[in-house]
Amino acid sequence: MLTKTAYLSFTQCAQAFWLAAYRPHLAAPPDPAMQRRLRAGQDVDVRARERFPDGRTIPYRPHPEEMAPLTAAAIAAGATTIFQATFHTADLLVKVDILTRTKTGWHLIEVKSSTGYKADEYLPDVAFQWYVLAQTGLNITQASLMHLNNDCRYPDLSNLFALADVTADVQAILPQAAADVAAMRQVVAQTAVPDVSIGRHCLKPQPCPFYAHCWQSVDGLTIYDVPHLKPALEQQLAAAGIRYIRDIPPDFALADKRAAAFVQQLTRQEMTIDCDAIRRELDTLVYPLYFFDFETIDPAIPTFTGCKPYQHTPFQYSCHILDADGNLSHREYLHTGADDPRRPLLHSLLEHIGETGSIIVYYAPFEKGRLAELADAFPEHAPRLSGMVDRLWDQLNIFRKHYRHYRFGGSNSLKSVLPVLAPALSYQRLDVQNGEQAQVVWEQMVGEADTAVKEQLAAQLRAYCHLDTLAMVEIHRTLVNL
Ligand code: SF4
Repeated sequence: MLTKTAYLSFTQCAQAFWLAAYRPHLAAPPDPAMQRRLRAGQDVDVRARERFPDGRTIPYRPHPEEMAPLTAAAIAAGATTIFQATFHTADLLVKVDILTRTKTGWHLIEVKSSTGYKADEYLPDVAFQWYVLAQTGLNITQASLMHLNNDCRYPDLSNLFALADVTADVQAILPQAAADVAAMRQVVAQTAVPDVSIGRHCLKPQPCPFYAHCWQSVDGLTIYDVPHLKPALEQQLAAAGIRYIRDIPPDFALADKRAAAFVQQLTRQEMTIDCDAIRRELDTLVYPLYFFDFETIDPAIPTFTGCKPYQHTPFQYSCHILDADGNLSHREYLHTGADDPRRPLLHSLLEHIGETGSIIVYYAPFEKGRLAELADAFPEHAPRLSGMVDRLWDQLNIFRKHYRHYRFGGSNSLKSVLPVLAPALSYQRLDVQNGEQAQVVWEQMVGEADTAVKEQLAAQLRAYCHLDTLAMVEIHRTLVNL
């Protein structure tokens, strides 16, 4: 059966679609972060259904074809709203999130857990459903996307969703859906895997589950890593059999200046370090220096007062403090309960960060946003918090403007810069290695009943956040010693 999942896979890559049908074991299982996103999507679906009190859910069956007669029975019995309504033809099958009866037919509603309407990604999804329903003889009169509403604030979830009517847009691409289905049938009938090259499509619009399989032999930065490279030039290089940046001929015109500079730096193994400019930036620092980093949780459905969907709520921070004499100390906070972490975290923060001194962060807009949100939530502390915002000093700016190194691989992230400037420090030995994992572990920890396990998870979180700020300290020392 060609399902909606198969269709979306096909529109991203014919090879991924074929592999899912014939070599599913080659797909990587969803990692914990992906599993968390899937759970969030399910939670959003449940909330969306609550908006339709007259709704009837078609019971789950392991073989989804068996849900089709149950759907037909619900329609025949006069159901006005159906969840997971299932329809199939000889080889196509869809389950519709929400189907509501209109005066002349049916309204198809696709629930999305995002806060916006991504036309490129969502319209083909709805078009496929409309196409299959039409093939079964169902009269669709309207199609909508139901997505999370950025204006919603907990605890008032009455406006958690926004509805976007996409009827006209979907009708306009129905011929494309029909053509895609015909092409899918051809591909699925093939006995050999379609010949599709790796490319930027491997990560967009979704990371492909066969990424590790297809990219296993890749051993360097590819032409798909070059920023601002025009698609036509990329295709020209690929057609010439050039996969790696190192193999791009020196006389190949890359057109875009940023693309050319990127390639030149990597191929010539260039470093550009403007010591004078770095010194001038460092001279603006005021001691003591607070090397600071938040970890946050961003639930799709807000759970803390005043928060909107996906609002980053800080649950942890690490702060290394370097005084003018070179003495280094460490302060931290980790919220270990499932309740709102902001008030106790804020009290700790106000205690740990003094009234003077620069607050060094890596990518200041993030910390600035969280401090501003804390100021909104606790206006009595707004003056102190806005003072902290004014004292933020972004270490990332050094690597954006004054320090470039081919070994950064075109990235300025802390994890790219650290191995070059402070190779003794590494995230690789840590259980938690990035912010998304930290969210997963924090949610596990606050729900964990076993004290020993809970403490172990807390230790993993502390180790990760501690390294984030220690990394900034070591990078700072390296910059000072240039
Ligand atoms: S990794 Fe890329 S080339 Fe391979 S199946 Fe996925 S999208 Fe296609």
